[in-house]
Amino acid sequence: MKKKMDQVESKARKWLEERGVSLQDIADLVYYLQKKYHPNLTIEECVENVDRVIAKREVQNAILTGIQLDILAEQNKLDEPLQSILHSDEGLYGVDEILAFSIVNIYGSIGFTNYGFIDKQKPGILKNLNDKSTGKCHTFLDDIVGAIAAAASSRLAHRAANVE
Ligand code: MG
Repeated sequence: MKKKMDQVESKARKWLEERGVSLQDIADLVYYLQKKYHPNLTIEECVENVDRVIAKREVQNAILTGIQLDILAEQNKLDEPLQSILHSDEGLYGVDEILAFSIVNIYGSIGFTNYGFIDKQKPGILKNLNDKSTGKCHTFLDDIVGAIAAAASSRLAHRAANVE
């Protein structure tokens, strides 16, 4: 039986959707990362692993914190110099990546390899989130989504290793 979602979890899931990221979008990234290692991999397994990662409190906390800062930056509500740094997604800022590491960390060092790879390639939803012409601010969200995909890939890989 599935346990009832509390306020933190339901808000984190709702905010992901509202910011244009579905479970399916993240599952597509997992599929992209893991397909070559698991030839029988299905998209349903990817969705399941993404769902289990998002069920973790550390992940929900990172989602809520990151998206909140993105929204405030989008609304010009932060004080300078942080407002300009976040709004322009300044490359040397780096706190967005540090926050994402709190997600990648959960499943050990294999997650970091996946995260680095996907952050460089920017497939699927990551490309949309990095499109600066939309007027949206996704300084934190792009790293969070990449991190959830990397963590879900690690979870999948660990479980596959246990089965084989
Ligand atoms: Mg970023």
